[in-house]
Amino acid sequence: MKNKPMNKKSNQREANLPTKKTQQQNLNKINNGVFVFTRSLTVGELAKELNVGAGDIIKKLFLQKKLVTINQYLDDETIGEICLEFGYDFKKEEVINEEDFEKAQIEDKEEDLTERPPVVTVMGHVDHGKTTLIDAIRNSNLAANEVGGISQEIGAYQKVVNGKKITFIDTPGHEAFSAMRSRGASVTDIVVLVVAADDGVMPQTIEAIDHAKAASVPIIVAINKIDVPGANPEKVLNELMQHDVIAEKFGGDVLTCEISAKKKLGINDLLEDILLQAEMLQLRANSKRYAIGTVLEAELDKGEGPKATLLVQNGTLFNNDYVVVGTTYGKIRRMTNEFKQVIKEVGPGTPCSVIGLSEVPLAGDRFMAFPTEKQAKDIAEKRKLKKVQEERAASSGVSSLDDLYSKISEGQLAQINIVLKTDSTGSAEAVKGALEKLNNEQVKVNVIRSAAGAITESDILLASASDAIIYGFNVRPSAMIRKKAEEEKVEIRLHRIIYALTEEMEDAIKGKMKKEEVEVVTGQAEVRNVFKISKVGEIAGCMVTDGVIKINAKCRVLRDGAIVYEGQIDSLKRFKDDAKEVKQGYECGLKVSNYNDIHDNDIIECYEMKEKDNA
Ligand code: GDP
Repeated sequence: MKNKPMNKKSNQREANLPTKKTQQQNLNKINNGVFVFTRSLTVGELAKELNVGAGDIIKKLFLQKKLVTINQYLDDETIGEICLEFGYDFKKEEVINEEDFEKAQIEDKEEDLTERPPVVTVMGHVDHGKTTLIDAIRNSNLAANEVGGISQEIGAYQKVVNGKKITFIDTPGHEAFSAMRSRGASVTDIVVLVVAADDGVMPQTIEAIDHAKAASVPIIVAINKIDVPGANPEKVLNELMQHDVIAEKFGGDVLTCEISAKKKLGINDLLEDILLQAEMLQLRANSKRYAIGTVLEAELDKGEGPKATLLVQNGTLFNNDYVVVGTTYGKIRRMTNEFKQVIKEVGPGTPCSVIGLSEVPLAGDRFMAFPTEKQAKDIAEKRKLKKVQEERAASSGVSSLDDLYSKISEGQLAQINIVLKTDSTGSAEAVKGALEKLNNEQVKVNVIRSAAGAITESDILLASASDAIIYGFNVRPSAMIRKKAEEEKVEIRLHRIIYALTEEMEDAIKGKMKKEEVEVVTGQAEVRNVFKISKVGEIAGCMVTDGVIKINAKCRVLRDGAIVYEGQIDSLKRFKDDAKEVKQGYECGLKVSNYNDIHDNDIIECYEMKEKDNA
């Protein structure tokens, strides 16, 4: 029993096991005249489920000119048609395996649902005061238990307002918000859109509106910097209307308030607005369930190992719970709040920092608690396998630069996946940007992870799963990591200079280009006479001895087999007339751009750069 949380609430969770419920949902059944099915069925199976004769089904399909046998599988559409024919409505329910817990829509019983805190993200244009607002909220009305606690950045924190909690995500801006969404996680219930009253709606304000709308998350507008002379809140509201953000006072449904984050004015009004909006959203959750939620942040702590900030979104997470996160699992060994206070349980809508996971998960990964270690382990393993298969199928990456070389020449490669680890966030951005500039039509440089920090086991696994190369920039892997990389056959390349890193990648790409540029000689002419014409320079009277000489063609002047000059054909004449091209066997007069030292018997060689076809 030592491993199990000895808590009354936790025992209730057994009755709320999602896996059992989803399994029940997977059964085919007729419910109030609706036939619910979860997979394709044979004619015989469908007949049994609908309690009709298989022959009747075959007959109906025959009348539709469809010939089927009793053991033949029917597609969803045909099953639907048959149901309607026999007077049933129909519904296909997706089969949800327990390892797909992200998708599991486990219905909570009405009586188990209670109010949960809203989760808020602050967004807006740069310098409009997002960070100042987050700090102002964090430090306003410190509750008794918070005073003296050293606040640590765990990715989110809670504020108690009028006896109710509000959870704030620490990272402002829509980048983190959309990064989460791109990983399928939606954690935000309400977006606080900060708009500076002295600046108005700006590009990132509009981006933030777009992101919030795309995620169907309601916006509360915080018009900031009202203390600044010249601040014009009305103007802001008018500008917002053009983007379909319509304030209540203009007949819309968007709550707005005027604040000064710096002078701490209006902060309480904003907090109350958040509670009001939350009330309208009727945010509820079932604290009796096994916890399910999202990783907000994760890192490898030198002393404590993988450390993650989790946002519990439904259910309750207890210390000692077994959780599956992404493709890894572990036992929660310690949970703390943002004041580093050790806590024993965390309810819905609440963040906590945990240690005990076996690997560092990714921000945006979903997690779920399971009753036993075995179950958590099995599910993590299944998920790992599935992810590897999916990623293998999705990416045609390569696992080493040498591989890259041979694959491009086979014309196969579309994508080089890169996991990038650097010494700082700034360099991560810079290196990522430089690498992505190398993209062209044949090769896609895909940085699948770029982060500051040492190369970790999780990087190796990601690289291994997605056939990626790991680039370390000013970071070096430990011996353990090197070994792991060898085991997983992941290539790690280390650099200290961005230029060297991109050059290496560029070389690899060039080597692999299906079509290399090659030079093709298009014509040669021999110089017979040189005429000097004032203001024009030297004109070479030539005989075209091979191919064709074209105006504007690239050319070089050869003397005794050596290149003496490279330029282009500036002018080309047949007798006195301008010519576009002069063919072999004809005479011509030509001028080589910026060159006035042509000798008799020089060879003018024209060439073009052409794509070499390796095929
Ligand atoms: P962010 O880029 O949106 O996070 O903006 P910051 O919070 O860093 O604020 C940008 C600048 O605006 C800083 O110099 C803040 O001190 C200032 N600022 C923020 N809020 C206010 C405010 O309410 N009034 C005034 N006067 N300045 C503010």
